[in-house]
Amino acid sequence: MNLLCKKPTKMSFLEFSGIKPRIAYLANNLGAKALELTRDDQLLRFQMRNGKKAIFSKSKEGEILALGEAQKMLDILKSADDKRTDKQKLMDRDGCSCVYCGIELTLRTATVEHVIPQSHGGTNELYNLALSCSDCNERVGNLPPAQKLIVAREHLLMAI
Ligand SMILES: [Zn+2]
Repeated sequence: MNLLCKKPTKMSFLEFSGIKPRIAYLANNLGAKALELTRDDQLLRFQMRNGKKAIFSKSKEGEILALGEAQKMLDILKSADDKRTDKQKLMDRDGCSCVYCGIELTLRTATVEHVIPQSHGGTNELYNLALSCSDCNERVGNLPPAQKLIVAREHLLMAI
């Protein structure tokens, strides 16, 4: 087996740090066995159930390289990401509380709030979305963004 027959997938160290727990979780789910590192530049090394190896290593330039089956692991994570709902992505980004009142939210109770309302030209892109409870979502309704921020600020000030 030649790990170098395919160009490695590259990512930044920061990106790698962010997904490292998910890589470990996925490896576990795939029945992969963690192997001891054999070189200084290696960060993670697994033996997959098919006997092939997945290696994450660090290049001289400081980039993280996914070699062999590690590329397939990244593909799996990426397709899982595509399937994750906006709510799950927002919870990962912002935590599980209402952006306005701070009440704790679950996937069931959270509603997706448009910071710039769609009626004001706001999009469904993640940067325009936040999680709020349904009460607040209704309360702020179609307020212009500046006023929404004031509502959000009130809650943030009360938390101090
Ligand atoms: Zn709320």
